[in-house]
Amino acid sequence: MPLLDQRQRPLENLRLSVTDRCNLRCRYCMPEENYRWLDKSRILTFEEISRVVDAFVAQGVRKVRVTGGEPLLRADLPRLIEMLAQKSAIRDLAMTTNGVLLAQHAQALRDAGLHRLTVSLDSLDRTTYRLLANRDDLDRTLAGIAAARDAGFEDIKLDTVVIAGINDRELPDLIEFAREQEIEVRFIEYMDVGGATLWRPERVVSRSDMLAQLTARCGAIRELPRHDSAPAERFELGDGTRFGIISSMTQPFCGTCDRSRLTADGMWFTCLYAERGHDLRALVRDAEAPAERLAEKIERVWSGRTDAGAEMRLASDRRGPLADAEHLRDNPHLEMHTRGG
Ligand code: SF4
Repeated sequence: MPLLDQRQRPLENLRLSVTDRCNLRCRYCMPEENYRWLDKSRILTFEEISRVVDAFVAQGVRKVRVTGGEPLLRADLPRLIEMLAQKSAIRDLAMTTNGVLLAQHAQALRDAGLHRLTVSLDSLDRTTYRLLANRDDLDRTLAGIAAARDAGFEDIKLDTVVIAGINDRELPDLIEFAREQEIEVRFIEYMDVGGATLWRPERVVSRSDMLAQLTARCGAIRELPRHDSAPAERFELGDGTRFGIISSMTQPFCGTCDRSRLTADGMWFTCLYAERGHDLRALVRDAEAPAERLAEKIERVWSGRTDAGAEMRLASDRRGPLADAEHLRDNPHLEMHTRGG
């Protein structure tokens, strides 16, 4: 019997941030140049991560997604992937990357047992990519996608954050690119999460706007049935090409949210918008504490969970960035790049 929260949502899906560092400065996540980074002495070792994941698996987690910041900045990452891949209860082991370093690591990740990859790619136009990422790395990201395919990764996904007036005219081109690469693109509504200090409501391109634009450019679109709690709704064009939309701003999906996030320094957040997290590092580093203590804490916290951050944000009439830069510097755990998106 899965562990359920107060809204009968199972603890199934753990997003595991292995670093808060990133080699890009995407304007919807890290628009500032300088950040207050997590204290290195607090960053969990691979062995500590493995023990914490065991406690989550004991409580029903079956899907693990490795994230960052940019996870490929964490040294020797394939070793951690191998440790996680050996946990037979984990039926889905995935990773989200910006792809900049992927060409060097794709084969090693595949050999280590990684099941799936999601690559963040917000534009195919070099100028727009640079405007969004504040770095000139489009070619490296494209090379990373090619290397992932060559390494044998199937079911690769592209994540594109759509911002009005910047890349919202590129949706059909991104679908065409994904079709040629035999991968699937998901368009993400621009979210007002921690770190998105430039977020403004008028910058959001809604699910319905995207579908209207794509119908005008690509013809009739068929909505596909949903089979799981994955955040993306999926659609199909007349020629069978599929794509997804993640619409947490205009159509939140908190009702089926089975996701939680562990930061690189062992803070557990049960919602992307949660103000406070739960310290699991202290328990995993307490040599006196029996391993069960970790699983007990996870059970206690999750069974009391009522989070529905996106629903609450949608209901509030005072909508602006979740926190300003000063507040974020005081509390770096509020940052999306610390929570792993
Ligand atoms: S806002 Fe929170 S509860 Fe809602 S889907 Fe996102 S993480 Fe889940």
